[in-house]
Amino acid sequence: MATPSPFAFDGDLIAALRRARFIAALTGAGISAESGLATFRDAQTGLWARFDPRELATPSAFARNPKLVWDWYAWRREHVAAAHPNAGHLALAELEQRGVPEFALITQNVDGLHQRAGSRSPIELHGNITRVKCSREGTVVERWNAPPDAVPRCANCGALLRPDVVWFEEMLPEPALAAADAAARRCNVLLVVGTSAEVYPAAALPALARRSGAIIVEINPNATPLSAAADYVLRGAAGVVLPALVAALD
Ligand code: NAD
Repeated sequence: MATPSPFAFDGDLIAALRRARFIAALTGAGISAESGLATFRDAQTGLWARFDPRELATPSAFARNPKLVWDWYAWRREHVAAAHPNAGHLALAELEQRGVPEFALITQNVDGLHQRAGSRSPIELHGNITRVKCSREGTVVERWNAPPDAVPRCANCGALLRPDVVWFEEMLPEPALAAADAAARRCNVLLVVGTSAEVYPAAALPALARRSGAIIVEINPNATPLSAAADYVLRGAAGVVLPALVAALD
């Protein structure tokens, strides 16, 4: 017997999800919080409450002190490798596999947990921390030697290697941005999960989707600048709300 849902979802929301021809989801750091990965802007626990992004996540920080930046990302990469997808990641993968005619998962996360949960090809707006690339050529490097006291270098051109993530002051990868933009314009429902909705251009996607006629559903335990404009606000943790929402579609 199915476990009764602790949520009484609005019937109109469930009907909209059932009839949607195209469901999109935009995720942020909050969806990985229940996997033990720190968010960015949450007071006390967020990474930016403990570290200064200007010293760690900008091209000029890397130019000034590449070893500090490399080591910080290596530390985060270890946390990501030890983490596991949680019920929220799994629910989005299940939603995709239910056979909605079209589904797009847009993520600001760099942790790769959506892929590990079974999502087919998430649109990664901010890169992926598990990848490393040449800081000059941009070529992704699969293997590198990490000397204990220095940042590894590109075997081809000798430039320093860096994480394949988008830093502050950098442009987002054009193909990912174009794919996210197209999904926002064409989807019938956009689920906005675990993002403070403050970092642009990702934060502009819900408004774009809404202008194009989509229903906006926010899933977040806390209020965000998006909350007032969302059609539905589901207050709670992604790992609790998303599985219940997907189960309610049966
Ligand atoms: P955020 O830290 O700004 O916001 C996290 C949100 O998740 C908050 O609204 C919080 O209420 C919510 N949340 C917390 N626990 C939750 C849970 N269990 N379930 C659902 N929601 C939960 O993260 P963000 O919005 O993803 O930030 C935007 C992006 O900025 C980040 O994804 C990151 O890629 C990015 N960024 C990172 C770097 C970098 O490290 N190099 C640089 C620039 C931008």
